[in-house]
Amino acid sequence: MAGAGRRALAAAGLVGRARIRRHRAARAAAGAHAGRLVLALGAFLLLGSAQAQILQSRLWPAREYTRLTLESKEEIKYTIFTVKDPARVVLDLEVADLPAALSDLPAKVSAEDPHVQALRVAKNRPGVVRLVVEVKGDGTPQVFSLPPIGEYGHRLVLDIQPAVPFDPLAALIEETEKKHAVQRDQDVPAPAEKGKVARLATIVIDAGHGGEDPGARGRRGTREKDVTLLIAKRLKALVDAEPNLRALLTRDGDFYLPLQARVERAKKVRADLFVSVHADAFVRPHARGSSVFALSERRATSEAARFLAQRENESDLIGGVNLHGKDDYVKRTILDLSQTATIDYSLRLGNSVLKQLGTVNTLHKGRVEQASFHVLKSPDIPSILVETAFISNPEEESKLNDQAYQDKLARAILAGIRDYFAKYPPRPASALVLN
Ligand SMILES: [Zn+2]
Repeated sequence: MAGAGRRALAAAGLVGRARIRRHRAARAAAGAHAGRLVLALGAFLLLGSAQAQILQSRLWPAREYTRLTLESKEEIKYTIFTVKDPARVVLDLEVADLPAALSDLPAKVSAEDPHVQALRVAKNRPGVVRLVVEVKGDGTPQVFSLPPIGEYGHRLVLDIQPAVPFDPLAALIEETEKKHAVQRDQDVPAPAEKGKVARLATIVIDAGHGGEDPGARGRRGTREKDVTLLIAKRLKALVDAEPNLRALLTRDGDFYLPLQARVERAKKVRADLFVSVHADAFVRPHARGSSVFALSERRATSEAARFLAQRENESDLIGGVNLHGKDDYVKRTILDLSQTATIDYSLRLGNSVLKQLGTVNTLHKGRVEQASFHVLKSPDIPSILVETAFISNPEEESKLNDQAYQDKLARAILAGIRDYFAKYPPRPASALVLN
C-alpha cells in the first residue's frame, strides 16, 4: 500500500478536485439541478468516461499573456497544479491517447515567447495525458473552458499571465519619450499655445479581432484580424509622425484582447479619441464600400448596423474571455450619463473620417451609422468603428491586401482625425500635466 497506493490515492484526489470544480461550475449554471448532476457525473467517472478527443492545439504568445487553446469535440476534463523550481504548470488531461494535435505542440513554442519557456506532453497514466508548461519569470496560470461557437468546438484555454500586468500608460509614456527625442534631434519646436500648455493628443487605435478570433474571412482566405492590424500599425506610424499627436495600439500582435480591455486601455491613457479598425463581410459578395459607426444609446440606425454590432460583439465569445468573477462586466449595459455628449462628438469625428474615406473608396453609406458596439462604450472618449472595406468582396479583398491601399486608408483616417481636431481641438492640459 506504499508507493503505488499513495499514487493512486493522489490521483483519485486530483480527480476529486476536478470533480469539485466541475460541481461548482455546474451549480452556477444549473442551480437546483446541481445535486443530481454531480451524482450523475460521479457514476459517469466510476464507469469510465467517454474521453474527449483533442482535435487541435493553438498557441498565441503575446506581451500581455500567452494563450494555449485545446479544441475538442467534447468538453475536456482536467486537473491543474503548479510546481516550483523551475516554475511549471501541470495540466492533466483526461484523454485516451496522446493525440497528434498535442504531439506537435512543443515545437510551436517560440524562443521569443515572453511567458512560456518550453512545453512537454506525455502519457502519464491510463486515460491521462500530462501537459507541462515551463513558465518564464513569474507567470501565473488561468484555465477556463469555452462552449462551442461558430466554427469552434469545445475549447480548454490556459493563459499564462505575468504577475505585473501590462501597463498601457507606461508603454505610452515610454513611446512619447522616444518621440520627443526624435523631435529634439530634428529641431521640431515643442507645441505651445498662448497661455496654455499644449500637449500631445492621444489616439488609441484598435485593430479589431486577433488570436482565436480571426474576424471575417475573404474568399481567398484573407483574415480580418491580419488586415486590421496592418492598417492600425500604419495609422499609428502616421499619427506618431504628426507633431501634436501620439498613438497607442490596443493590440500590436496576433492575440485576443477582450472588448472591455480595449475600452479600459483607452480610459487608462485618457485617450482623446478611440478608433477601432475592421473590415466588413456580407453574404452577398458584391456588397462594397467603407462605413463608419458610432455608438447608439438605444436603437441601431438600421437593421444592417444592428446585425453588424451583434457580430462584432460576438468577438469575446470567439476570441475567448474568462468571465469568472467578472459579473460587473457582463451586467454593464446601462450607459453612463456623459455618454450622450460623447456620442455627439463621436458622430462629428465619424463624419470627418467618412468624408475622407470617400476620397479613397466608395462609401457603403453616406452617413455615420449607429448601433450598440461594446468596444465603443467609453463614456468620455469620442469613439468610432471604421469598416474599411468589405473583405467578402473579392475586389476589395485584394485591395485590403495591397500595402499602398492600406496606406491610403490609414492616411484617410488620419486626415479625418486632423479635420475633426481643426474644428474641435483637444482639451488643453493643465500646466501641471507633462507629457
Ligand atoms: Zn470586425
